[in-house]
Amino acid sequence: MFGRAPKKSDNTKYYEVLGVPKSASQDELKKAYRKAAIKNHPDKGGDPEKFKELAQAYEVLSDPEKREIYDKYGEDALKEGMGGGGGGSDFHSPFDIFEQFFGGSSFGGGSSRGRRQKQGEDVVHSLKVSLEDVYNGTSKRLSLSRNALCQKCKGKGSKSGASGRCYGCQGTGMRTITRQIGLGMIQQMQHVCPECRGSGEVISDKDKCPQCKGNKVVQEKKVLEVHVEKGMQHGQKIVFQGEADEAPDTVTGDIVFVVQLKEHPKFRRKDDDLYIDHTLCLTEALCGFQFVLTHLDGRQLLIKSNPGEVVKPGQYKAIDDEGMPHHGRPFMKGRLYVQFNVEFPDTGVFSPDQCRALEKILPPRPSNHISNMEPDECEETTMYDVNIEEEMKRQRQHRQQEAYDEDEDAGPRVQCAQQ
Ligand SMILES: [Zn+2]
Ligand SMILES: [Zn+2]
Repeated sequence: MFGRAPKKSDNTKYYEVLGVPKSASQDELKKAYRKAAIKNHPDKGGDPEKFKELAQAYEVLSDPEKREIYDKYGEDALKEGMGGGGGGSDFHSPFDIFEQFFGGSSFGGGSSRGRRQKQGEDVVHSLKVSLEDVYNGTSKRLSLSRNALCQKCKGKGSKSGASGRCYGCQGTGMRTITRQIGLGMIQQMQHVCPECRGSGEVISDKDKCPQCKGNKVVQEKKVLEVHVEKGMQHGQKIVFQGEADEAPDTVTGDIVFVVQLKEHPKFRRKDDDLYIDHTLCLTEALCGFQFVLTHLDGRQLLIKSNPGEVVKPGQYKAIDDEGMPHHGRPFMKGRLYVQFNVEFPDTGVFSPDQCRALEKILPPRPSNHISNMEPDECEETTMYDVNIEEEMKRQRQHRQQEAYDEDEDAGPRVQCAQQ
């Protein structure tokens, strides 16, 4: 088994540690370990070294095969046999042994091995991007701070490696007291565990990890390179898997960036198409125009009318392949739509002579409508300028006031709406 005859070394220490005779039965060993482990648990302010010794001693003596080796050849032989000369490192963590012991007994509670991992929460950030960013594609370096498991204590929060789970309540934070209050009558009372004050965890002050002060996690700065791809849409998500806050026994959530497209002063976007407004003066609308548009990548587009073309107010025209790149297939592009406004000359710009000159060029008036009627038989009217938006607003306010005044009486409201 060992390859060479092992030297006999100390084979009494483990019995002394547990305080049992060499002839102790498994039951006696169990009892001794239970009592001593609770008393020396670092969570309760016990000495971590002593706790570790107890676990080692119990691990060996509770295993008949290991106990036999120990009895025959001592501690050193056991260490060689267990790990091929790896020294004491092959012992299990004293806390695993403790939890295994109590997890499987009438003390209740589950062992750490069976504990289910929680799902950590995703962290969602909004990522403001310009239309130029999603037209050309870009990457942004973002610095975030997050919780990371403390490297020094591996997320245990303690120097000794104690899990921090309160043994008084098995980590539930609550304790149940059972009392006999009469013949066959049992009263059960639940109260907050006094050891951990309901948190389910205890790390004694002297065992707290100096790095994280027992918090198990430390704040960490992290720089993420976020790639904004060509053609990404508003609301699209960029996911960094498992980069959110770390916590013990938790599957780390994702950092999610949600693309928020900023408004552009010139271009509007709808899916893969772009829209712009362009205002022509009357002369351009009637006699032709050309203008230069600077695109989102800095290219200068020359946009012009066809010979003899007249552009009407509100008219749309389109240019193929000058819209947004399609996400995932950036060589495919949408359309660029141009909506034209036509700005008319102001009142008083034309003299009567100029009007007569214009009349000769422009299409004739539809004067026949009035010619078969006598203007004298008509009533005169006076027309004035209005700001129609202001008019509508005033009317809305008026209607609201009426509805408020009349309260529950529906009559006047109907009347008002009919005006
Ligand atoms: Zn720590
Ligand atoms: Zn507790």
